[in-house]
Amino acid sequence: MGRPTVRDDLRALEGYHSPQLDVTVRLNTNEAPAAPPVAFAEAVAAAATEIEWHRYPDRGATELRRRIAELHSVDGVTVDPSQVFVANGSNEVLQTVLLTFAGPGRTVATFEPTYALHQHITRLVGAVGVEGQRNDDFTLDADEIRSVVAEHRPSVTFLCSPNNPTGMVDPEVLVDVALDAVDAVDGLLVVDEAYGQFNPTSAIGRIADDVPLVVSRTYSKTWAMAGARLGYLIGPAWLIAELDKVVLPYHLDAMKQAAGLAALDFVDEMDERVAAIVEERGRVSARLTELGCHVWPSGSNFILFRPPSGDGAAVWQGLVDRSVLVRNTASWPGLDGCLRVTIGTAADNTVFLDALADVLGSGD
Ligand SMILES: *Cc1c(COP(=O)(O)O)cnc(C)c1O
Repeated sequence: MGRPTVRDDLRALEGYHSPQLDVTVRLNTNEAPAAPPVAFAEAVAAAATEIEWHRYPDRGATELRRRIAELHSVDGVTVDPSQVFVANGSNEVLQTVLLTFAGPGRTVATFEPTYALHQHITRLVGAVGVEGQRNDDFTLDADEIRSVVAEHRPSVTFLCSPNNPTGMVDPEVLVDVALDAVDAVDGLLVVDEAYGQFNPTSAIGRIADDVPLVVSRTYSKTWAMAGARLGYLIGPAWLIAELDKVVLPYHLDAMKQAAGLAALDFVDEMDERVAAIVEERGRVSARLTELGCHVWPSGSNFILFRPPSGDGAAVWQGLVDRSVLVRNTASWPGLDGCLRVTIGTAADNTVFLDALADVLGSGD
């Protein structure tokens, strides 16, 4: 008996890796530092007893869409439930967008360095990825957006702000530039706002029926629910209806819908957590600078930095030896020698900073 052949275009594919190690302090995947409030877990447990387990879940996730729409109907913006699409993590949201608007024979544009999954999912759906480039300081030029979109005429163009792995926020004007560019080639702009709660501005306010824009969000980071796999997208109602045709029926289980709903009763608690993380981010950033690291300005819950030696890989190993895990981005294209650290609890951050001082030989 032989081995069936993998699709030609996937044979060279490497799986997505986010290596985990058994360490004391894990600051490598941008998760929230603490579990959601206990009252949230209790609400989910109570909801579980109400679920009709023998029935398929509400396919339209009606109540969850309604509450998410409500959450984003603030500051003069109105979001209708028909403008909300929910899926198993924003990765499945993005996959559904690409299955619907990209696919074989179509092109998808990103601006690197950015979230690796944008190009990875592009390959999974059989589309061609093109990579525009950010500047050396990781800012993005309007002209780069215009020329990449005009040259390659992508069906889907990604922006990510705050951007992972740099942590930087793109100026709002780039969304307008990108919208003009993609509209001229009948393309779609996706703005990935996985870290949107850390940034006072959002592209959600620009969404309208005749604007080729969708914005994706996730419960994985601020909502402290990476374990639940829940994400969503806000966009024109007609476009959401197309996504609903493509995603598998009943993809969003009843338990997850209940968890997503319960979380929305704890908005104030989550806002407080965001504020606490931002404060800690200031402390970590200041100390990194003091230790001689180059630190990029972060509008998210993580910081990209380059150790003074420029040898990120060696520093990463030194941290692992001290039972601290950060993301080793040192060999990623454009990120030469850099490391990315998630903001954790104050205690975890202190362990990280002390370990780093030790590794850098300035343990004062
Ligand atoms: C973490 C992250 C996500 C989240 O993906 P989920 O599937 O919702 O966990 C999406 N986009 C970016 C840029 C991220 O960093």
